[in-house]
Amino acid sequence: MRVLVTGGAGYIGSHTLLELMAQGHEVCVLDNYSNATPQVLTRVRALSNGELGDVTGDVRDASTLDNLMQDFRPDAVIHFAGLKAVGESARKPLAYYDVNISGTLALLNAMSRAGCNKIVFSSSATVYGEPRYLPYDETHPTNPMSVYGRTKLMAEQILTDWAAADAPRGAVLLRYFNPVGAHASGDLGEDPRDIPNNLMPFIAQVAVGKRDALAVFGDDYDTPDGTGLRDYIHVVDLARAHVAALDYAQRHTGARPFNIGTGQNYSVFDMVKAFERASGRKIPTQVTSRRPGDVAAMLADASRANAEMGWQATHDLNDMAASTWAWQSKNPDGYGADS
Ligand code: NAD
Ligand code: UDP
Repeated sequence: MRVLVTGGAGYIGSHTLLELMAQGHEVCVLDNYSNATPQVLTRVRALSNGELGDVTGDVRDASTLDNLMQDFRPDAVIHFAGLKAVGESARKPLAYYDVNISGTLALLNAMSRAGCNKIVFSSSATVYGEPRYLPYDETHPTNPMSVYGRTKLMAEQILTDWAAADAPRGAVLLRYFNPVGAHASGDLGEDPRDIPNNLMPFIAQVAVGKRDALAVFGDDYDTPDGTGLRDYIHVVDLARAHVAALDYAQRHTGARPFNIGTGQNYSVFDMVKAFERASGRKIPTQVTSRRPGDVAAMLADASRANAEMGWQATHDLNDMAASTWAWQSKNPDGYGADS
């Protein structure tokens, strides 16, 4: 299949490129490098020996999209391109609505003009908001608590309406839980530009000495050790979910959400301990106050993805920690060193 991957140079996108190419798909990336470097694609090419097309451009740009549709003629699109920082989304709401919503609209318009009918979308478990029950299944009410989360839910609604409007269209909405880990080679991984917002990249930077200590955001939650519980999902498992979703999209019409998680959750201290085991290094921690907007626990019921897409996570906590350490220790400055 010919697959257009928007945001393919990013963290999740780059790992997905390898899985797509390994399955024989023909792939083209559209990225504006607002949160990535073209070096990522050089590394993907080196790891895959495969042909990989790429276009530098913005997903909101209609003429770039029309040219791509005409030249590459994708059978399907995987739409990663977007802004993703929860805190920043409160400070710059219009930038988030612009990239995440206008970007999705521009893409769907170009797909409609070109008769491209299938899309896999990067959504997030953050669309659920405060849990009414756990694990979340896909019928759990949605009530996102951030601007970022609202852009994801609105994009899901737009995709659902688009898919319903014309019979052959299909949209798979992947609600990711907490993506972590890296490619086993240590050559691809998560490379935050500023101070990491997320737990795993922060721990990894403490381990290589770039940061002094991990601030643990609260140890007074109603959880076994008092710290937040999350359903961490290895990025390679997540990448494979996209390959399964493409296959599902070919066989189905309409829009359907799927949770992508493991069904198991871990605390902040569990993650610290796993990383200490993988790296052989001590991770100093300091408990601070809760981070506003954080929930105590998240957990996925991923049985729908298992039953309907035949997808299941296979990597465990040790794989997550070991691959993150392989990436961080081999690339202490991320892709910076070769960009
Ligand atoms: P990322 O920032 O590493 O990747 C996004 C990519 O999109 C980057 O390469 C960036 O340069 C590109 N991009 C951004 N705006 C663009 C634009 N206007 N035009 C073209 N390219 C653009 O993020 P990621 O972690 O790989 O996440 C990918 C997607 O998954 C995002 O939509 C994100 O919201 C979603 N998601 C991420 C997580 C997570 O924790 N990482 C969780 C749930 C959902
Ligand atoms: N967390 C933390 N210190 C950090 C970053 C995160 O204690 O520097 C905690 C956070 O409170 C949550 C968990 O780690 O309980 C996962 O946070 P992350 O930001 O990675 O994911 P999200 O909160 O978006 O699920």
